[in-house]
Amino acid sequence: MIRLQDIIDQMRSHSPETNVDEVKKAYVYTAKVHQGQVRRSGEPYLVHPLGVAYIIAQLNLDQASVVAGLLHDTLEDTLATETEINELFGPNVRFLVEGVTKLSKITFTSGEARQAENVRKMLVAMSQDLRVILVKLADRLHNMRTLEFIEPKRREMISKETLEIFAPLANRLGIHWIRRELEDLSFKWLNPEPFQEISEKLEKMQEEQQKYIEEVVDFLNRTISEENKMQATISGRLKHHYSIFRKMKKKSIDFDQVFDIIAFRIITEDIGDCYRVLGLIHALWKPVAGRFKDYIAMPKINRYQSLHTTVLGPYGERVEIQIRTRKMHNVAEQGIAAHWAYKEGVGEKLIEDKELAQFAWLRELLRQQKDVKDPVEFLETVKVDLFSDEVFCFTPQGHVKALPKGATALDFAYAVHTEVGHHCVGAKINGKIAPLRQKLRNGDTIEILTNPKQKPSKDWLSFVKTSRAKNKVRSVIRAEQRKRSQEIGREILEKECKRHKINLSKKWKSGDLGRAAEELGYKNTDEMLVALGYGKISASRVLEQFMTPEQRKLAQEAIDETRPSRASQVVKRPRKSKSGILVEGMDDVMVRFGKCCNPIPGDNLVGVITRGRGVTVHAEGCRRLRDTDPERHIEINWDAAHSTVHTVGVRIHCEDRPGLLANVTSVLSDTGINISQISARAEDGGMAVCNLKVSVASLDQLTDVLRQIEKIKGVSLAERVKE
Ligand code: MN
Repeated sequence: MIRLQDIIDQMRSHSPETNVDEVKKAYVYTAKVHQGQVRRSGEPYLVHPLGVAYIIAQLNLDQASVVAGLLHDTLEDTLATETEINELFGPNVRFLVEGVTKLSKITFTSGEARQAENVRKMLVAMSQDLRVILVKLADRLHNMRTLEFIEPKRREMISKETLEIFAPLANRLGIHWIRRELEDLSFKWLNPEPFQEISEKLEKMQEEQQKYIEEVVDFLNRTISEENKMQATISGRLKHHYSIFRKMKKKSIDFDQVFDIIAFRIITEDIGDCYRVLGLIHALWKPVAGRFKDYIAMPKINRYQSLHTTVLGPYGERVEIQIRTRKMHNVAEQGIAAHWAYKEGVGEKLIEDKELAQFAWLRELLRQQKDVKDPVEFLETVKVDLFSDEVFCFTPQGHVKALPKGATALDFAYAVHTEVGHHCVGAKINGKIAPLRQKLRNGDTIEILTNPKQKPSKDWLSFVKTSRAKNKVRSVIRAEQRKRSQEIGREILEKECKRHKINLSKKWKSGDLGRAAEELGYKNTDEMLVALGYGKISASRVLEQFMTPEQRKLAQEAIDETRPSRASQVVKRPRKSKSGILVEGMDDVMVRFGKCCNPIPGDNLVGVITRGRGVTVHAEGCRRLRDTDPERHIEINWDAAHSTVHTVGVRIHCEDRPGLLANVTSVLSDTGINISQISARAEDGGMAVCNLKVSVASLDQLTDVLRQIEKIKGVSLAERVKE
């Protein structure tokens, strides 16, 4: 059993100056609140927090982490409160304890690899501070060590979770000794027989192997230290159970066929020695082709660095050898924790670029968070907000879904299934009814409520975040609009047919309608009806297709007769428009200008058909256009025969001097341009900005007058203001 003194000794062995007062205080506190509680093993509960705190001390973490290790179960299992912990140990410790408690409330279902990866990311995201994750790992390790007292079913579940989530997480963070132990402990409970077999065989080999290890270590020591005068620490060890088992499974081989069961490690003083030692070994023993790896030049994602080689040893057997420096070794064993300790050692000094490079693996995790510009900002991100652009949420079955930050309950519904999204009427978040637009937070459990009668609505688009959900909603809405337009188109056509005493269903059956559609450039009748419904073509144009040339002529004359001044129609001239806009293929259509982009003659235009409200005019490139269905866009042009004035915004950047404004207005009035609004404000540095609303007839006129204004002394820029 671990005692308080063991923890203190462990902390001092790393940094003798460490203040341990808080640790002592936490010990007394946790002993008090856990008093009377027993573990399954029959031991007092206190054994667990002490065990966890000791592991944290072994990781060389700071005092706050060790204290958090002692207190990590108090919020969940005792009467202790956050306020109390805050008062006694400060906000830092409270934050860590709260974080670990939050993580402990989560249980995971096992699943495919992606699911496991999401869970790992969620754990990191939720912990906000890597120390929370490290305390959680220590907690898990101690629980795994004492798993024998738990009932078999739960034991298996915990082991699975450890193997799928926590061991890989330890590996990601580069803490290999924890990873190895977690793997072996899980392996022991999940596959007892193979574990037993490997154990026995390793044990049987032990004595023999131990002698062999000593022999090789001795030999290497002589060669490296005595003959070549390099300082090195050499050790040999048997591989851990699970890694042998994995190799057996991966290559479908027996235990006896697994080579490199023994691995030697040589720890040198500096990088140069790593390569010198490698040269020595390759000269002594024949290297196995394809087994040399230089992770010093190219570190692994978890910033592991080492030279790896496999050689044929003194008896012709395969031997794996790893060569690295002391510092690389610490990183390999302690991973992120080593970095932490190192950082504390240098105090306030900023982490150098070299250290930053070692964070390459974190950067890899942050692939999607592309906008990391500043190294200091980056370190901040690492500390508190690792996966800041994602949220991780649970289905009621415990599956984790990763969604972009800002995603809502409705996005979640669409992530589950398209049909669930379409029929979503509400959601329960953590058991409470919540609106569909509710933004999700890490760790939320979401149950989607559906109703078969529900349909996607247009305002859903205003709050869904994922493009998946957006596209699904849009496609339904478009399909509905189409359907409605088709119905309207059919009604219009029916009415028009009645007026001309044409039997529409007959035309339909005979194929005349289909031919008319083709004639007018539509794929089929339905397409034509949609166009009719949107108002892109008129019913009379369809009916014209049913007539013989003579009939057409007669019909035209009939129409002309109803017009008041027939004489004026004789000469063919361009259609005249009231609005100054010509709409392709349509007469007498109501035209409105969008309030957004204020186009003026000379700008390229796009028209948007709005049923019942005619056509809205936008300048090409206007942002509003993106929200409209491209199917409703039609070609429109300025009517050259028609001149109206259009109001447009103008901004002038100039010196702040008296009389300048008068110069500007006189230029405008000289060119006959009306000013409807004017305002000016002084800026820093003797500059001023002047905003005007003017009425112009064309883009040319505007460009011209802007150029003239810029010629005024003291004006630095005159520009058109869009939107
Ligand atoms: Mn615990």
